[in-house]
Amino acid sequence: MMLEKASKPSVGFIGLGNMGLPMARNLLKKGFPLTVYDISSDRSAVLAREGARVAQSPTDLAGRCDIICCSLPEPKVSREVIAGESGIAAGLRPGSIVVELSTVPPSLIREMCQVVERRGGWLLDAGVAGGVPNAEKGTLTIMVGGDRLAYERASAALQAIGSNIFYMGPSGHGMIAKIVNNAIAHVNVVAAVEGMALGVKAGLSPDLLAEVLSKGSANSYQFENRVKGRLLKRNFKPGMKLHLAYKDSRLACELGNELGVPLFVTGVAHSVYQEGMSAGWADEDYVTIAKIWEKLLGISIESGDK
Ligand code: NAD
Repeated sequence: MMLEKASKPSVGFIGLGNMGLPMARNLLKKGFPLTVYDISSDRSAVLAREGARVAQSPTDLAGRCDIICCSLPEPKVSREVIAGESGIAAGLRPGSIVVELSTVPPSLIREMCQVVERRGGWLLDAGVAGGVPNAEKGTLTIMVGGDRLAYERASAALQAIGSNIFYMGPSGHGMIAKIVNNAIAHVNVVAAVEGMALGVKAGLSPDLLAEVLSKGSANSYQFENRVKGRLLKRNFKPGMKLHLAYKDSRLACELGNELGVPLFVTGVAHSVYQEGMSAGWADEDYVTIAKIWEKLLGISIESGDK
């Protein structure tokens, strides 16, 4: 047991938000020596109380760790944290592996790969799916692209945060799979909410309708988690923030544009998320878009069970 613990690589985690914090906590629980950094020191303090060390900057963290994970909100933040003045690259030790768990465009992955490789390290793109419930349970699905040997070296750490881990191929391919996953999942939320709005406007009980749909072919992960689990209970606390869902559908649309692939329904879903952003709901869970129909129709898709 002692030997197993001593042989674990030191892991760093940058970005301790709704996803990052539970992922980092699972690394700690599985016995990886952990160093953390978040721009908000409150987030780091939570894990410091559980045994993590706290770094002063991404450069400081990179100088202490073999594997450096990032879970950050926006591509521009990822670029700054990896390649910026006090970023990871400036402190990276040769042979270290950066694991980008944030959802970012494949083009940024390829650019950051070069930055990291110039410092003698590797960068893996590792898109995660399954949301906060699976991040907490350590059962995320992880889609990894990049150097195969680096993937094998990082796999014990990946297994601490996920239970379905797929090697997708060269750099960027993990992120492409993740973007496709979210394009489908986010269209599904729009369809589920719109269908509920139609039934409720026609006079059906939200509870009964949701119960029936969840037993039929309309059911899905998103229907269970977002419509039944959140919307009916009026729980808009994220989960996944609307601005992140909007970012993801934007990434899908950009990839479609780049490749000349028509994305009919993804484009429509993106406009719905845009509408929610304009309404000022960026930091609520993205099922908040249901309020668009509720306001238009004068209905509430709310459970009668209090
Ligand atoms: P979040 O907004 O809850 O967390 C982001 C964290 O990054 C925050 O703690 C913030 O303080 C920190 N941060 C911001 N700028 C920073 C900087 N410069 N340096 C260090 N830390 C910084 O977001 P989240 O929901 O945890 O999502 C993180 C990433 O994972 C996103 O790319 C998102 O698209 C992706 N993702 C989210 C979900 C989900 O269900 N929430 C699921 C899969 C993937």
